[in-house]
Amino acid sequence: MSILKVARIGHPVLRQQARRVEPTEIRQAAFQKLIDDLADTMNEDHGIGLAAPQVHESVRLVVVGMHKDPEDDESELRIVPFVNPEIEVLSKEIIEGWEGCLSIPEMRGRVPRAAAIRVRSHDRRGKLFEMDLEGYPARVLQHETDHLDGVLFIDRMRSLDTLTYLEEFARYWNKD
Ligand code: ZN
Repeated sequence: MSILKVARIGHPVLRQQARRVEPTEIRQAAFQKLIDDLADTMNEDHGIGLAAPQVHESVRLVVVGMHKDPEDDESELRIVPFVNPEIEVLSKEIIEGWEGCLSIPEMRGRVPRAAAIRVRSHDRRGKLFEMDLEGYPARVLQHETDHLDGVLFIDRMRSLDTLTYLEEFARYWNKD
């Protein structure tokens, strides 16, 4: 297990278009280790999602913590890797919600996201799968997939008025 260094905003890797991963590369030991290290780094930093460019690897891989029972917020979290994820928006509904990012530490802001999505992706064995998501997991997947295109959550904010440090978030914003 390795904990990797997380790139912070300003590092050019966060603004690059990450490259697609060939299905044959996914099964290779080096890529399997990257998936595990990404998951370990996410856990260490108490994130709910992490994208490979955030650990200086410009490839289309993200990991997301998801409840085993999507209906039950108390159910155990499992870490799901998505390789070459592609998002299709399933709902016209847009929801604004708070987001943070390990690459923009100590900050939060309100970001509009599609309420429901379908994600098509390779799994860690290189197999294609599909998953429909709504609500918070849909938000996390959209945030992480944006990282693969060099997009950060602040780019998606309608206005920077809600951009806040965590301390001020707790004091002034954490009411709704
Ligand atoms: Zn992020």
